[in-house]
Amino acid sequence: ATANIGVVGLAVMGSNLARNLASREGNTVAVYNRTWARTESLIEEHPEAEFVQAKSVEEFAASLQKPRTAIIMVQAGRGTDAVIDQLTQVFEPGDIIVDGGNALFTDTIRREQAVSAKGLHFVGAGISGGEEGALNGPSIMPGGSPESYETLGPILKSIAAVAEGEPCVTHIGTDGAGHFVKMIHNGIEYADMQLIAEAYDLLRNSAGLTPAEIADVFTEWNRGELESYLIEITAEVLRQVDARTGKPLVDVILDQAGSKGTGVWTVQTALNLGVPVSGIAEAVFARALSSKPAQRAAASELPGPSTPARVEDRDAFVEDVRRALYASKIIAYSQGFDAIAAGADEYGWNIDLGSVAKIWRGGCIIRAVFLNRITDAYTEQPDLVSLVTAPYFTEAVAGEQDSWRRVVAHAATSGIPTPAFSSSLAYYDGLRAKRLPAAVVQGQRDFFGAHTYKRVDAEGTYHTLWSGDRTEIEATDSH
Ligand code: NDP
Repeated sequence: ATANIGVVGLAVMGSNLARNLASREGNTVAVYNRTWARTESLIEEHPEAEFVQAKSVEEFAASLQKPRTAIIMVQAGRGTDAVIDQLTQVFEPGDIIVDGGNALFTDTIRREQAVSAKGLHFVGAGISGGEEGALNGPSIMPGGSPESYETLGPILKSIAAVAEGEPCVTHIGTDGAGHFVKMIHNGIEYADMQLIAEAYDLLRNSAGLTPAEIADVFTEWNRGELESYLIEITAEVLRQVDARTGKPLVDVILDQAGSKGTGVWTVQTALNLGVPVSGIAEAVFARALSSKPAQRAAASELPGPSTPARVEDRDAFVEDVRRALYASKIIAYSQGFDAIAAGADEYGWNIDLGSVAKIWRGGCIIRAVFLNRITDAYTEQPDLVSLVTAPYFTEAVAGEQDSWRRVVAHAATSGIPTPAFSSSLAYYDGLRAKRLPAAVVQGQRDFFGAHTYKRVDAEGTYHTLWSGDRTEIEATDSH
């Protein structure tokens, strides 16, 4: 046995990860794929990696030093289960199986239980950064036992992205914690992308900027607090000219957004946990709305505002949109971190939220300078109940909010859909409200369903006899 690490599944992600591993000092990488042709071509194309090739899972197990450590990068779902099944038959107690695919965290919890019952370690590790990240340095979110991280940690640190001198990997928590955090990462990514798209829509369709001009605006924004990978690549997309038509590429791309499901998982999970992730949910719904061509065609002649709002001062409007984007982004991240905190509570994970922000600074799609602020906020106040209440963010939003309100009002009066901008503002106003109309909802619930209510001025639970003499009684048990 010569290899200290193995990779199973050599499609684009697995082969890039294997090459990344092989390029680091001290690693010898065993590779195995169900279909031999894939292994063969990887070895032929990259002799420099000096891979240890395995034609069978038995050969693969024999090529690994103990405790054996193998990273699975196969199709999520049944493919992953099949490979885990094979590995558990040839691995021994103490060996470590890592699933680097995009697994649903509840699957990871289930798999961890099954694998650890056999004395092996199972680590669900979220890996972000796509193909490029897998090859040159992803952000890695491993779950699993702290014991397995002792072996795995140094290997993952050697291949992770580096941000400000620190590798973008940390042990997130036990069993499904890593895949949970990766899922929320993707949800935040949906929200961030939608917010940037809404900013584009306002600049294009209300202020009348061309895609190339908006690209310049985004490049400018990328020098300030919005500096991020997503702003940077959006500028590149907007600058791209279609070779066939000579038009901006964005004008010939069909406006129906696809998805692979991690945004939906985030929202479903947040609904179950009772966490309002409205920014992420609106982003998921916006993609769904875009992908309904029949409904959109049927509705395309519905009337808009009779007198759409006009942009009087372009520069001032661009600046307002920038500020609105920043404030909305703070809300989207605040909601995402709330979801992580709620998941940690529900599943008994001890997740350090500041470290999560830290490992997202490099390698992943939502990498941004702004994440340093989140780390600072949780470092200064580890028991912070909501990111938006941290002094830096409170001040930032206070500074942007007039612009934010103007932009949302402008969007509404001009008929430009800004679900993520608008819902983020509504969330902010809801959160800071001293009194919410939830009192009315409680009254309604008590009226039709005797669901009872609590009072602001007394302990206990109450019910008004709505269909009787409308006196109030103290309810003995909650309904
Ligand atoms: P695919 O998701 O396309 O999966 C193909 C690989 O899975 C092949 O190696 C295939 O083997 C193997 N496979 C499928 N079914 C089985 C099975 N039943 N038994 C054994 N092997 C099987 O590969 P990708 O490289 O695109 O993605 C790998 C993982 O990484 C996925 O979980 C995906 O969700 C995730 N991913 C993550 C990204 C990120 O940014 N983090 C980006 C893209 C993917 P064979 O050659 O024999 O068919």
